[in-house]
Amino acid sequence: MTEVKKFILDNRLGKVFEDKTFRDYTTIKVGGRIRLVYMPNSIDNFLRFYEYFRTREFPLFIIGFGSNVLASDRDFPGVVVSFRDLDVLYFRIGNRVKAYPGCPVVRLAYDLARAGYGVGEFLAGIPATVGGAVYMNAGANGGEIKDILVRARLLGSAGVKTYENAELDFSYRKSRLQSEGLICLEADFEFEPEAEPGSALKRIAELKKNRRKTQPIEKLCAGCTFHNPPGMYAWQLIDRIGFRGYQVNKAQVSPKHANFLINNGGATSDDMMKLIGLIKEKVKERFNVDLECEWVLVNF
Ligand SMILES: Cc1cc2nc3c(=O)[nH]c(=O)nc-3n(C[C@H](O)[C@H](O)[C@H](O)COP(=O)(O)OP(=O)(O)OC[C@H]3O[C@@H](n4cnc5c(N)ncnc54)[C@H](O)[C@@H]3O)c2cc1C
Repeated sequence: MTEVKKFILDNRLGKVFEDKTFRDYTTIKVGGRIRLVYMPNSIDNFLRFYEYFRTREFPLFIIGFGSNVLASDRDFPGVVVSFRDLDVLYFRIGNRVKAYPGCPVVRLAYDLARAGYGVGEFLAGIPATVGGAVYMNAGANGGEIKDILVRARLLGSAGVKTYENAELDFSYRKSRLQSEGLICLEADFEFEPEAEPGSALKRIAELKKNRRKTQPIEKLCAGCTFHNPPGMYAWQLIDRIGFRGYQVNKAQVSPKHANFLINNGGATSDDMMKLIGLIKEKVKERFNVDLECEWVLVNF
């Protein structure tokens, strides 16, 4: 790994850190040490790194804001790449945006709303980067990434290729990026003129107010823990097994929203996984439903 670090620094490809943990890079603040964190300063430099790195045997993990990630307590023996230090976040011409993977989607929602464009208001409450949001097909309040994404430039085993929206197999919190392990390098979005002046910003304010009321956003968490099974809400099933507020050490089912598991300070991924296991078991027993975890589990 010293060699990898040297390659990045000698070629000025960005920043590297050796003393970090997944607690530093995830919103739930759980997880073990990371061997090397690489923050590229441009997409071209990331591609130079990738060309060099892909033949090595170390694992690679891309992290956004880590707002949907639970990492194990074990040390991660490879490189975690964060695009949050790229020189450019996005470009905009009118309602068209070309965004880079480290760009916060909240920023897009606000900037576009201020410029008089709508349909992206749902993004304002999602603590995601563009890369993580495209990968997860993030969505809220009736909107999803798939509704505003035109195309994306992705890196896969065959190299860099541009995919149109229809080629990305989007469905509820799923995308082709997940099934094929593709890395998002760039995403083109199209917004629409807002219905009346100021309506996009007004809707953002309403959605955010409602979110603060219904979700434990002030706590350490990683968004909804389980997918909603077809025609049901995961939070209702968890509520009905009596698990609202239930705790395993410092891991707890949020008393505010039963599909959010929170870290009350010092929870381990082991605590989290025990709580997840118990919920799945009880929900299966009582409703014969298999809850599927929405979180991305890393290094288990
Ligand atoms: C308080 C709170 C509220 C939330 N509300 C919502 C909500 O309303 N709707 C919703 O959909 N989600 C919600 N989430 C979950 C989370 O914000 C989303 O899943 C989001 O898309 C994750 O984005 P991220 O950039 O943090 O990605 P991460 O969590 O860092 O990563 C998620 C996955 O994306 C991959 N990834 C990241 N960047 C790239 C890239 N450039 N190329 C390829 N893969 C990449 C990672 O490897 C990982 O597999 C919430 C989370 C929190 C903490």
